[in-house]
Amino acid sequence: MVEKTTAFDQIRALVPGGVDGNAKYFDGMPIVQRAKGSRLFDIDGKEYVDYCCGYGPLIFGHDDPELTAAIAEAVRHSGLVYGLPHPMMREAASLVCQCVPCAEMVRFTNSGTEATLSCIRLARAITGRDKIVKFYGAYHGTHESVLIGAKATEARPAYPMVGVDSAGIPKGVVKDTLVLPFNDLAFAEEFLQKHADEIAAVLVEPVLGSYGLVAERPFLQGLRELTERNGILLVFDEVITGFRLALGGIQELMGVIPDLVALGKAMAAGFPIGAFAGRRKFMERVAPTGDPAYDRQNVVYHSGTYNANPVAMIAVKTSLGKLRQGNVYPLIDGYGEAIRSGMQKGMDKSGIRGITTGIGSLVQCHLGISGKIRRPEEMVLRDMKLQKRFHSLLLKKGIFFIPGPRGYISTAHTSQDMEMTLDAIESAFREL
Ligand code: PLP
Repeated sequence: MVEKTTAFDQIRALVPGGVDGNAKYFDGMPIVQRAKGSRLFDIDGKEYVDYCCGYGPLIFGHDDPELTAAIAEAVRHSGLVYGLPHPMMREAASLVCQCVPCAEMVRFTNSGTEATLSCIRLARAITGRDKIVKFYGAYHGTHESVLIGAKATEARPAYPMVGVDSAGIPKGVVKDTLVLPFNDLAFAEEFLQKHADEIAAVLVEPVLGSYGLVAERPFLQGLRELTERNGILLVFDEVITGFRLALGGIQELMGVIPDLVALGKAMAAGFPIGAFAGRRKFMERVAPTGDPAYDRQNVVYHSGTYNANPVAMIAVKTSLGKLRQGNVYPLIDGYGEAIRSGMQKGMDKSGIRGITTGIGSLVQCHLGISGKIRRPEEMVLRDMKLQKRFHSLLLKKGIFFIPGPRGYISTAHTSQDMEMTLDAIESAFREL
């Protein structure tokens, strides 16, 4: 049970579960009063070093002065939403296309969910095929087609597996989402060769955000070749990795260029955003001609009241402008490495079996398993009770990770934060 606090009960009486997203629920959640830099402050005045970073977007931490000033200025002087084209839309689009290798054109959305949804619809329209392939343990947002096999709960699933992650997903949708094993190129090769003419897209989350597992380069390269050969679109979901691991995301780091990409989170450093982008020849299928009868048949529908609003565009422009200054990634990646190795040292010193995963500024640790782990089903045997205890010990010490524990680093984190965090990690392992 979540610790009973009057404030939480009051929220929960009106908001189901008291949370804004189901996966965010955990026992003993602090209730936030305010946030600044690397810190969260709860309603009882307790301070936390925040490694949740809003579940990823806050690459500059909370209330970054430059970002806040730009957003406040836009709110005051630009208006909130037009529903018409404006130069800030071009500026933000141009920055995205300069940064992301596969992006020749871009449409903005308000979330990553809308971005992956649009990539899938576009791939279906282009190929005339209905089915999509995704991978076990990959999370792509909350729409029906992708809430299937997003959580790895079985150690030996029969692939293509059909684990549904929510009540209310229609059977008709489930049959069109084929879930294959992550990082298993041989399986994908055999499967895609057999079923190519039914498959519109292969959707990949290149770092499984829930597990910190990184897609191996040969796996991504193999998928690139297979999809190209079989007329299937390769879609990277870089909602987490885009602009966080590198300006050009994992596609820049691995040198594997997809047809379409879904973006979000760090692109606007905490302001609500998403986007889908890709090759011009594909993205042009979204462009209306002005003839509604023709468009209904031939053009991919995409819209949203708040899409590309001026404030979001200024947030994108400011965030990407700051990221392009060039000193962000060495700093946050270095802190990421320090935390991963601090966690491993803490486990080793205390004789607790466990591993760390992640890349760059993404960190995670898993207790009760060991060895080289490449797929989420190999993590089913984690000691979840021990992980929970470790997470709440850290929370008590004023260090807030996402339950896992898993975290994101921002440029607002300081060397003092690191020191405090590494001390807390070491003592939490001792106390486990
Ligand atoms: N794709 C990935 C990889 C994500 O991690 C998320 C959110 O966590 C989404 C898509 C959905 O994005 P949003 O929560 O902005 O809808």
